[in-house]
Amino acid sequence: MTESVVGGPSLPQERRLVTAIPGPESRRRLERKKEHVADGVGTTLPVFIVAAGGGVLRDVDGNSLIDLGSGIAVTSVGNAADAVVRRVTEQVAAFTHTCFMVTPYDGYVDVCEALAELTPGDHAKKSALFNSGAEAVENAVKIARVATGKDAVVVFDHAYHGRTNLTMAMTAKNMPYKHGFGPFAGEVYRAPMSYPFRDGLSGQEAAARAIDVIEKQVGATNLACVAIEPIQGEGGFIVPAPGFLPAIAAWCTANDVVYIADEIQSGFCRTGDWFASDHEGVVPDLVTTAKGIAGGLPLAGVTGRAELMDAVHAGGLGGTYGGNPVACAAAMGAIEEMREHDLGARAREIGATMAGRLADLQETYAVVGDVRGRGAMMAIELCTPGTTEPDAARAAAVAAHCHAHGVVVLTCGTWGNVFRFLPPLSISDELLAEGFDVVAEAFAATA
Ligand SMILES: *Cc1c(COP(=O)(O)O)cnc(C)c1O
Repeated sequence: MTESVVGGPSLPQERRLVTAIPGPESRRRLERKKEHVADGVGTTLPVFIVAAGGGVLRDVDGNSLIDLGSGIAVTSVGNAADAVVRRVTEQVAAFTHTCFMVTPYDGYVDVCEALAELTPGDHAKKSALFNSGAEAVENAVKIARVATGKDAVVVFDHAYHGRTNLTMAMTAKNMPYKHGFGPFAGEVYRAPMSYPFRDGLSGQEAAARAIDVIEKQVGATNLACVAIEPIQGEGGFIVPAPGFLPAIAAWCTANDVVYIADEIQSGFCRTGDWFASDHEGVVPDLVTTAKGIAGGLPLAGVTGRAELMDAVHAGGLGGTYGGNPVACAAAMGAIEEMREHDLGARAREIGATMAGRLADLQETYAVVGDVRGRGAMMAIELCTPGTTEPDAARAAAVAAHCHAHGVVVLTCGTWGNVFRFLPPLSISDELLAEGFDVVAEAFAATA
């Protein structure tokens, strides 16, 4: 029954349910998934997608869903965005792979040049490209270790940096990311994060607390790098108190420690700036990027001070597919979309709308303990009213209602009690409003 549907911006921008969610065709395909795909690969909303674009996902039963997740902050420019499709189509017809380490091509260099221009700071920068966020984080740590001649890595409570062995060690949450998968890489130490809703500390106080742990439990002379998400992603969209990030960065600079901003989720216009570090003028030594960088194609990067990046011996960085030409073409298309449509400004507009809707929810429902985030990266944390006791059950109930009514919402957080809202920056005001109407109905229906 699958009709052919063209995705991208021309897909009708509407929420339209013609079956239950999931519908009969999705249910049939889920049986097939169950048979062939490993059970460890989970599904948040079990409908099979045939087309997507603007602010909607179209499923195999003909349902059209409002997307408030962007495939986890990836399709910020929208699915099948015009410039991405055009550049990818041209590239895929020209050549698909040479391996940049065997014979180079312009697309890779174009992306590195753009990263130097767009990432924080106007010092000399260089980049290396990879396939996934986790791979970028691993390589940032490799670079920091070679450049400093030191081993230790500091990460924070609630951090998420990926699922490979080193990045599992760097990620805080056990279930589902680490459970049973150890032993993990050594020399990774965890410091307390600034979490204003739970610790009530100012940025300076929280930084002093973290630096004390780092100095007493690790020691600057052993420490290669501090890796931090400027706004934490999977860990619950935790926005550190103002002043926390500048203080940590300044301590790193004073102690010959590489400050790595993991901007994989927060980068590329998501928070209203090109990068979340820009908000407080923090200039990281190294920045990791992925997710929003290439409109959905797999690409990741490490960008940093030229002298740090060049500390690594020839051949020490790379990989078969890193900076694949089709993925690089997609990245140049995504960056074109961001510049042309000023998607940073659009993220701020979307953020203002979402902040208003979420504040209304907080006023009406005492279970909404905290509203936080920046730009098109907003969240609410659900707790037993008047306490900080996480209410994951309510979050699950609200999410189930939204999904059944055709709105894709994502939860996150160490306790699974946080809603994160990450609409594509191509969503219309009307769809965004309708999406939040459904979220509000979900709170009413589960009260
Ligand atoms: C998603 C994410 C990663 C891992 O990226 P993958 O592409 O899934 O490997 C790392 N850091 C942050 C902050 C992320 O959000």
